[in-house]
Amino acid sequence: MIDFFKLRNDMIKYQLISRGIKDESVLKIMGNLPREDFVPETVRKNAYNDSPLPIGEGQTISQPYMVAIMTELLKITKQDVVLEIGTGSGYQTAILSRLCKTVHTVEINENLLNYAKGNLNKIGCKNVFFHLSDGKKGIREHAPFDKILVAAAPENIPNELTLQLKNGGKMTIPVGNRFEQELIVIKKNNNSILKRSLFSVLFVPLI
Ligand code: SAH
Repeated sequence: MIDFFKLRNDMIKYQLISRGIKDESVLKIMGNLPREDFVPETVRKNAYNDSPLPIGEGQTISQPYMVAIMTELLKITKQDVVLEIGTGSGYQTAILSRLCKTVHTVEINENLLNYAKGNLNKIGCKNVFFHLSDGKKGIREHAPFDKILVAAAPENIPNELTLQLKNGGKMTIPVGNRFEQELIVIKKNNNSILKRSLFSVLFVPLI
């Protein structure tokens, strides 16, 4: 029997806290969420590895640290309406949903969207709206958003996403090609955009 409880606590200590994740609510939520239930049976034993893992359809669940830092940077509050691009397994979605009022999550692959719906239903997630569409376009009907988290890398920041960000809002997004990307944090104030590049990352491409 694998002790997932211990593996999860170790992930919090050695992958998140030791690298500087401080947000207590992010740590608490990730410490209580069974990541092993968001990956296929074949990689379940590796659920707490310090890396991304395959979830089928050529896609991956992001590394725990990447999920944590992108979430922490957004400083999500209970009033926030959040747009997530790239639902994948629904793991990141679950974390966002526990921090905010509503999540609109967009996935382009129908099989993965259904996989995520199943995963999120099992844990009783009720404030998530699922959209099968191209995330580059955002979701005009529900814009503007307080926060936007993009979990796949475009070569350039899609204009529609900055347009759909509220003034005072924040977005975290990996930007670059298949070989070189950086994690960007965007702040929007008075309709002007402030961009900050944090560090190198490697996400699947936003297609
Ligand atoms: N956050 C996810 C990981 C997502 S991997 C998790 O926790 O599991 C990136 C996801 O983005 C993949 O599922 C991929 O299908 C999706 N994707 C790629 N291009 C997209 C696009 N243009 N619009 C919406 N989703 C896209």
